[in-house]
Amino acid sequence: MTHRVRRRAFLVGLGAVVCLSFAAPARPAHAQGATVLVGTRVGANRHGEDVRVKRSVGAPSGYPHRLQAIAVARMAGAEPAVVVRGLDDRWHPFEVTANFYGGGTSADNTYVREIYGLPSSVGLDEERRRVAAMVGGSDAEGAVRASRALAARILGVEVAEIEPIASSSSRKADKINVNATLTEVDGTHGPASSNDEAFVKGQKTAIEIRRGALDSTESVAATLFHEVQHELDYELTQRLADRYEAETRRPFTRGPTFTTWLLKRDAKTLPRADGELASDIADSTNGSTEATAGVRTFLAAMDAGATAVAAKKLEAYAAALTGVPRVRPQRYNPPTGPYVIAALKVELETAYRRMSPDRKRAFDGAFATIKRSYPSAWISGFDHATAIPRR
Ligand SMILES: [Zn+2]
Repeated sequence: MTHRVRRRAFLVGLGAVVCLSFAAPARPAHAQGATVLVGTRVGANRHGEDVRVKRSVGAPSGYPHRLQAIAVARMAGAEPAVVVRGLDDRWHPFEVTANFYGGGTSADNTYVREIYGLPSSVGLDEERRRVAAMVGGSDAEGAVRASRALAARILGVEVAEIEPIASSSSRKADKINVNATLTEVDGTHGPASSNDEAFVKGQKTAIEIRRGALDSTESVAATLFHEVQHELDYELTQRLADRYEAETRRPFTRGPTFTTWLLKRDAKTLPRADGELASDIADSTNGSTEATAGVRTFLAAMDAGATAVAAKKLEAYAAALTGVPRVRPQRYNPPTGPYVIAALKVELETAYRRMSPDRKRAFDGAFATIKRSYPSAWISGFDHATAIPRR
């Protein structure tokens, strides 16, 4: 027997997000992933053309954030592309048969809660040259408008979602801040409208992208994915700080009291790795969230088929752990405890086992490089034989 449940999807707040009511049969979670949508019609675009799903890109289990799925679509070169929030509440990137940017009419597709059409990525290099030629010319305002529109197309979002800024202190939450003055790093994440990195309960955070990083579509997509991971980790910490207050009836304070509480929760309701991650973030220690962002960005690029970008980002992470300034002059600490590292090794190995032989070769090649160049980094100690502990 099939249970039918009628629900209403909520609005993300962008013009191009189409909300759908749908009739959802009850299904096991594994049946709700990306593959069920391949071949189905998700709607018609503004020109009345049918939009059908041609192929699913990225991890079959999708991504927790719309921008991460968009970044994967860009790294995979899916064109035209949509991202869909499925019944599993995860965002899935797809290549489709016709551009859905700006929305249209949606089909009554059982598996779709929300759908967002990416702007076209065709002809981006030509557009980069056209905008570069405008900069410094007589139409300064036109150049600013054109470079903002270009940033939106490169990153696969609406123009309104791009916030051009000249200083990190003016970065805004819920925008992709494109900073013309950022140096040394391709992206950052931190408290909105502030340079103070300390964790503050209730604080909204913001993502920044270095304007120059927009020169490479695939690489900047990987950077966006990475910074969104930091935001997700920060939001998890905020929810756990709320839970701490609700359960202890004491005001949240960061430090040993919060850490002890986190690590004493039942691991069934709070995985140890999440507790360790939240403890690090609350203490403004970057180790756990950098490890999570580093590993997941590597896997996202790998799953998108952007294997060169994946290898470059993995090497940048390993280099930053050892302080060797060959790739980027950054310095990261490793996670403070064992749980995040153990969980990330399981994630790496689980993803590896479902990869095609070609991707496995690229994965192993990337690890061979970091093992050679940065043998002391924890990530270089990843080993297929021991990544998933035997019970
Ligand atoms: Zn980072």
